[in-house]
Amino acid sequence: MNPPWTRDEVILGLDVLFSMDTKNFSVENEAIIELSKLLNSLPLIPLSERDETFRNPSGVRRQLLTFEWGLQKKKKPIHVGEIFYTVYNEIGKNKILISEIAQSIKRNSDFVKSIGFSYFPSTVEFPEGVILFNLHSFLENRHGFRFSKTCNSCSICGLNPQTAFHLRETARFLDPHLLVLPQDMRPEMRFSGKDFITVCPNCHQVLHQYRPWRSRSQCEQILKTLG
Ligand SMILES: [Zn+2]
Ligand SMILES: [Zn+2]
Repeated sequence: MNPPWTRDEVILGLDVLFSMDTKNFSVENEAIIELSKLLNSLPLIPLSERDETFRNPSGVRRQLLTFEWGLQKKKKPIHVGEIFYTVYNEIGKNKILISEIAQSIKRNSDFVKSIGFSYFPSTVEFPEGVILFNLHSFLENRHGFRFSKTCNSCSICGLNPQTAFHLRETARFLDPHLLVLPQDMRPEMRFSGKDFITVCPNCHQVLHQYRPWRSRSQCEQILKTLG
C-alpha cells in the first residue's frame, strides 16, 4: 500500500483538478499523466515506501475524483486523507493562489532536489509545502545571515538576546527571514538586504505558519503595536 498524499502533492493535485473539466478526467488525459510523472519525480516519499502503483495515472485520477465527489456530496470519503481538507480549507478555495503555488513548486523542484532536500518540518506546517519550505530555509541560511549581522533585536517582538541574556554575541540567536512570497520564488533570483528581516526563532516560526504572508511593513507594524 502506498503512503498517503503529502501537502505538496495535494497542492499539485488540486491545481490540476481545478484547471480542467472533470468529465475529461480519464487516465489517458495529458494533465493526469503529467501529474503522475511529476509526483513520481519529487522526493516527497522515499522510494523504499513506494509500491509499483505509486501515484500512477489511475490512482491519481481516482484520488482527485473521490475528493471532488466528497466535496459535492459534503462527505469525507475514507480513501481521501485529512490533508486534502486542510489544504482545501487553507488555500484551495483560492484557485489562483493554488495555481501560483503549484507553479512555484514545479519551477523550483529541480533546484531544491539539487541542494539535497533534507528538511522536513515535524511540528510546523509551511502552508506552501516542504519543497518551498526547503528552498526558503536554504536561502535564509545561504544569504540571510550576511544581511542580518547588523541587527541585534527581533524586528517583530523587539527581543535583544544580548541584553536579555547578557551575551557577547547575538547574531546566532536571531534568524534572517526571507520576505519573498513562496509563490514568487524563482531559482535564478538574486537577493539583497531588503529581501530579509531579522527575527527571533519564535517569531520566525509564527511567520512561517501565518498567512497571508507578512511584508516588512506589516512585521514592523506588529512591533509598533507591541509598543
Ligand atoms: Zn521575536
Ligand atoms: Zn523564514
